[in-house]
Amino acid sequence: MESAYLKSELIFSSARQANQENEIEYDLQIKSNSLKMKINSKIKIIAFDADDTLWVNEPFYREIEKKYTDLLADFLPENEINKRLLETETRNIHLYGYGVKGFVLSMIETALQITDNQDNNQLIEKIIALGKELINVPLVLLDGVKESLQEIKQQGIKMVLATKGDLLDQERKLSNSGLENCFDHIEIMSNKNQKDYQKLLNRLSVLPEEFLMVGNSVKSDILPVLALGAYAIHIPYHTTWVHEKVVNTAKDNERFLAIDSISDFLSVIEQNKEWFN
Ligand SMILES: [Mg+2]
Repeated sequence: MESAYLKSELIFSSARQANQENEIEYDLQIKSNSLKMKINSKIKIIAFDADDTLWVNEPFYREIEKKYTDLLADFLPENEINKRLLETETRNIHLYGYGVKGFVLSMIETALQITDNQDNNQLIEKIIALGKELINVPLVLLDGVKESLQEIKQQGIKMVLATKGDLLDQERKLSNSGLENCFDHIEIMSNKNQKDYQKLLNRLSVLPEEFLMVGNSVKSDILPVLALGAYAIHIPYHTTWVHEKVVNTAKDNERFLAIDSISDFLSVIEQNKEWFN
């Protein structure tokens, strides 16, 4: 498993690599500029994103995408295939939502375009097999996740899992993670816009100032939550899907904090016990 994960580090196209480096540099900049978070109310619920916050996700997608571009190497260069696939995925998000099944359908659609609808049953079979391979990758928790969540739970703080993705796929990952018992509520969301978070808060019967979100995506886990008046902590991950990349306009927000790892989050909680209960 670890070797697959490490291997995925090597497969970025130069464009993706450049994006990734910019992102990391930008995140470091944000971190050094971050004010100390100020919480003036009591937090009743901490919600965690799942993919690339609790467990590895995006590197596996990139690994499958590399295999996909290899399948189509006779038709177009890798970068061009990546670009066309992203265009298809972006166009289809509102139809399929986030997750592996939509990814597979977009891979098939893009392949049909690239190969100009030749007789390519075999190609489609191979793409479907790639999708099943992606669904079946073993679950890899990020460092410190299990220990940190268990410690937070022991302190009596309510925790929620709030993730996008395919329902069955995310349920399977959660079950395989061994983290199920840490959470008081699981929310698998079709999107993570401000109105989606508002619905979640209504369901949980908490006010924005009682809600803290922790996640790796500025676009999905940070900005919409801050816009509601809630609190958000960013734990950047080294690989971010291009679709999720946005400029972080939150760096001066007193309800925002950027940290390096979930273990650092535990330290933040230890040092700020007055935020809870
Ligand atoms: Mg995520």
